[in-house]
Amino acid sequence: MSHSNQSGLDRRDWIKVSAAGIAATAITGSTSAQSALAGPVNITKMSDPVPTRPLGRSGIPVSMLNLGTFRNPGSDRLLRFSYANGVRYFDTADTYGSEPVIGRWLKEDPALRNQMFLVTKEHPKTPQQFIDKLDERLAALQTDYVDLYLIHGIGNTYGSDYKSLDWPKSKEWQAAFEKIKKSGKAKLVGFSCHDSRRAEFLQAAAVGGFVDAIMVQYTPWLDKESKLNKALDACHKAGIGLISMKQISGFGDKVLKDVPKHVPYLKEKNLTAYQGLLHAIWSDERIASVCVSMVNTDQIRENTAAIKSFEPMKLTDIHDLRDTVLACDRTLCADCDGQCSRAGGTKASLGDLTRLLTYHDQYGYRSEAKRLYRELAPESCDWSDADLALAEAACPNHLKFSSLLPRASQCLS
Ligand code: SF4
Repeated sequence: MSHSNQSGLDRRDWIKVSAAGIAATAITGSTSAQSALAGPVNITKMSDPVPTRPLGRSGIPVSMLNLGTFRNPGSDRLLRFSYANGVRYFDTADTYGSEPVIGRWLKEDPALRNQMFLVTKEHPKTPQQFIDKLDERLAALQTDYVDLYLIHGIGNTYGSDYKSLDWPKSKEWQAAFEKIKKSGKAKLVGFSCHDSRRAEFLQAAAVGGFVDAIMVQYTPWLDKESKLNKALDACHKAGIGLISMKQISGFGDKVLKDVPKHVPYLKEKNLTAYQGLLHAIWSDERIASVCVSMVNTDQIRENTAAIKSFEPMKLTDIHDLRDTVLACDRTLCADCDGQCSRAGGTKASLGDLTRLLTYHDQYGYRSEAKRLYRELAPESCDWSDADLALAEAACPNHLKFSSLLPRASQCLS
């Protein structure tokens, strides 16, 4: 299977989860989303729910693997297939295009709502807007509440002056979070972050004490002394639930083919490279759940099988995996704190540019990648003054900026 494959939709596995959420019956495809993809269907056996971990101080058990639904073709079918394979945590957002699909599913099977952990996100400019926008999200999802409501991608897109760094410890935002939870429209409130200064956002949340959960760009081989690792420690100690995201993107087919041959742990356990990466992430007990954008049924099978065979990895095995993966060509910055830009002497956001190029080239999200590129400040896109050799030398993921950045400019501008 290929994690970079956006198609490969297997028609045999259409399932319909019953109202009780415990049985599966054959369907012929009735909704508009289904009709685009549906064909003959087989009855599919329901698996037990995948293992859970408590989400921070809330103690709410959440699936250790959750389904990211960003612009996912065939998401109607993949939601149901994930559910049938034991996933009970679904991640969406205002901009993902998947809320209406989830809404239709919940309308068909209202009893499912209480059996899943449903997360959505918004892009508010003010605390009041965050409160108000939740009604739009609930209407799109056709539900009365979400389990977790997040400020979407807090960081420089909320202002390059980084005033948003104060939000996780401000009284106004605290009052908004409390009002939302009191209304019963969201059980928990927090933010997602893949900004280069995310360690500072996490530290602010640990100090503020009112953020319930954070979805954060993460890598399983963080340096112990890194700012992000220390910020994760601070959040974990403060009882903030942590959800990993964007951890296994940006790998090409070389990773799929070559890594298992060179990592004894994978060979012994008969795991793929992605299954090994998931095991490495779950070995960090601070991480309650991992968000993975699974775009075909093979990926769902592979990743839910990984969780069922999970045992914590030894550090030496994680390092073996890290060294092998980093030797492969990679396009996405996964643990960006901006050191490439500093080393290269540029204000350009090299990590963001490679991330958007990955969206464009590997995920096929071309218009979305271009839209996000247009939202970046002009200086974040202008890498003409960068010393790319120094930037490459500074990047722990060994990104080859000299080939990636010209392509980013060509494709995204
Ligand atoms: S050095 Fe590499 S990992 Fe760090 S910000 Fe730059 S691209 Fe991302």
